[in-house]
This record gives sequence, C-alpha cells and structure tokens, in this order.
Amino acid sequence: MVDNSHAAVYLRPGKEKPVRAHHPWVFSGAIDRVVGAGDGDTVEILAADGEWLARGYYNSRSQITVRVWTWERAEPVDAALFLRRIRTARDVRRRLGLQFGDAGPTGTDAFRLINGESDLLPGLVADIYGNWIVVQFLTLGAERWKNTILDGLEEVFHPRAICERSDAETRSKEGLVAVVGTARGRAPDAPVPIRENGQVLAVDLLQGQKTGSYLDQRWNRQLVSGFVGNRTGESLAMLDAFAYTGGFGLACCAANPGVRVCSLDESEPATVQARRNYENNGFLDRVEFITANAFRQLRAFRDADRHFDIIVLDPPKFAASQGRVAGACRGYKDLNLLALKLLSPGGLLATFSCSGLVTPELFRKVLFGAAQDAGRLVRILAVTGHAPDHPVLLSFPEGEYLKGLVLQVA
Ligand code: SAH
Repeated sequence: MVDNSHAAVYLRPGKEKPVRAHHPWVFSGAIDRVVGAGDGDTVEILAADGEWLARGYYNSRSQITVRVWTWERAEPVDAALFLRRIRTARDVRRRLGLQFGDAGPTGTDAFRLINGESDLLPGLVADIYGNWIVVQFLTLGAERWKNTILDGLEEVFHPRAICERSDAETRSKEGLVAVVGTARGRAPDAPVPIRENGQVLAVDLLQGQKTGSYLDQRWNRQLVSGFVGNRTGESLAMLDAFAYTGGFGLACCAANPGVRVCSLDESEPATVQARRNYENNGFLDRVEFITANAFRQLRAFRDADRHFDIIVLDPPKFAASQGRVAGACRGYKDLNLLALKLLSPGGLLATFSCSGLVTPELFRKVLFGAAQDAGRLVRILAVTGHAPDHPVLLSFPEGEYLKGLVLQVA
C-alpha cells in the first residue's frame, strides 16, 4: 500500500520552527489552511511560504491535528517505511540487551518495542511479552496503517500472536472507539509467562491494565531492589502501595531474604495475579495482600501506628489535563505525607508520578511540602524516569511522563 496523496497543511507564519526542530506535533492553532486532506490522511507539512518541512498525518478532530511520520522529503509513507521503523526500534532495544523471545543476560524478555513518536511512529505503541506482541493504535492516522504495521511486525518477529489493546482513553480525542482483541494469530488463553530481571511473572495481555504490565517501571523495580539488596542481614518491612501484580515487592523479595511485603492495590484481579506471582517465585510466605484504597489504607496504618522500612508509592496518572494538575498535586502530597510518617528512621521511600503534566520540578516541590508537613529531614538518593526501552526524543519533551525519587528519611 502506498499513499500518493499530496494533501497539504500550510502553517501560519512563524509556526514552522518546532516542526523544523523535530517536534512531531502540529497543534490546530499553528495551522493556516488544509488542502485536500480528510481525517487520517497523509499530508505534506508546509511552512507559510510553501517550504516543505515534514510529512505526517492529519485529524481535524484532534487538538494535535498533525503528527509527523518523517522529516525526510524522499521518504514516502508506505510499507517499507513501517518495516524500517520496526527494524530500527528492534535494533535500539537489542543494544540494550533486549530481544524478542529471549531473556538473554538481562533476564528480561518483556519490553517496549515501539514508543510512539519517539520511535518515529506517532500514535503507535508495541510491547513485546516473550513470544507475544501487544499493540495499541492511539490515533486515527496510526490506525489507518494497522494492517501494514501488523504485517511488518509479523515479518520481523513471527510472534505467536499479536493482541490489540486499543482501549486507551486518549482514543476518544481522535474520535475512535475502544478495540480489544487478537489482531493476528491465536490469543493465549491464560496469562503469559514473561521474565523480568530474572523473575518469572505472568501477564494478562487482553484483560490486564495498559498492555498487560507497567514495563516503564522495570528499571525502577531494579533500582529499588538494589537499595534493598544492600541491607542484607536486616529484617525489612516493605509497603508496596499501588502494587498491581507485585513487581516492586517481588523484586525486593528476590534481592533480600529479610524483606516482608505488604502488597496493597484496590484492584481485585490485580491482587489475584500478584498472589500467583508471589507463589510462582516462592515468596508467598513473605507477603500479605490488602485490597483497598491506598489513601484510606495509609491513614489506617498511621492510626494503627504501623511502620515500614521501605515504601513504594506508584499511583496511576492523577492529572490527565492541565485543569487537573492542582488536584493531582494535592493527591501526591497527601499520599507522600502519609508515607513519610509511616517510615521508620533511615527508611526508604520510592515515590513516582506518571502524570506528564506534573513536571519533575513540580513533583519535587510537592515532596518538599510533604516532608515539611511530616516534620522529617529527607535526603534524595536517586532521581529516575522511565526504563530505557521507553526512549524519548530530545525534541519531544511531552514524551516524558514518568518521574521518580528514591528518598531516605533521617
Ligand atoms: N507498581 C506497579 C504498577 C502500578 S499501576 C508495577 O510495578 O507493576 C497503578 C496501580 O494502582 C494499579 O494496579 C491500580 O489498580 C492501582 N490503583 C489505582 N488507584 C488506586 C487507589 N486509590 N488505591 C489503591 N490502588 C489503586
């Protein structure tokens, strides 16, 4: 399939700068006029004076009206482009020691293969889970090329199946409904076993959250377990809050035989899977599960005067729009204040925010406020972000969303 359309989007004077600097989005306000393009079509992106800037796709319904496929004039949008992009993404991960169907020396065979814009495939996410692939088409323009992209993934990897999890909320902004199912091959009828940092975990590709797992936190699970692993010979009480299927707690159990975990999540299916993961890794006797709202449960711990040596706070996205940032910060402050109060002297708090609209500086300010209110002296041991299989284009700061700090209380 080749798209020969020469539909064009002309930008307003002066609005060509970001595109020229490799920013992959054109907002509706930057557009002067659109010639011959329907929603989802490939368009040439032109400066006000007609100079060619980039090639992308158009959707009048979205505030992000155009997203860039390529800045190379000679590169048509066709099956070959998608194959090249997929192969390049594969090579980028290979250099990180991450390979399809092979846990190799990293002990990891589940990772992000395609991170949307930052892999020059805007609107597309593809995650590899062992011999399976899960895809998300987040925009109309990406969805238009669904079959070509699926063909490309099959040609490069020969997966057992490709599952589709196009059920992210953002699709509604593109005028798209949710699609969940098996796009190619036969879906697994049980959660699939994957390996992460040497542990065996099971991931429900069709019914789990996101694409089944929070791969962006793999690096941080290793980071936190590293701190915990340094304290051998100690008996350590850990609270894994917003635990999902147990990732952080499991990693810490593996790192230090003295760790005992309280695994807290409000989701019943997540807790069921977490229990299986603890069992399969031989740690069931070191964990207690609580299925509850974390805000309420942390208060209950405070009232019961229960303390922990390690707390992980990994809440879901609190701010989906600019209007929700202030409320999100109140939520982060509340949680972190409670967590700081629950820590024993010398205790560790690994705290995260995946709200892209809450900047790292703002998140740090919130934590500063929480530490003041808790009356505790706090040191930063590490500053972190997403795992490197979620690379972000330097020219695309919007691609950065996850931030975390590992803190130690005096
Ligand atoms: N730490 C996990 C990922 C957490 S994702 C990992 O490493 O895999 C966020 C989790 O928070 C989800 O599992 C969701 O079910 C849970 N959650 C969302 N709101 C919650 C709340 N108010 N209280 C407790 N859990 C919540």
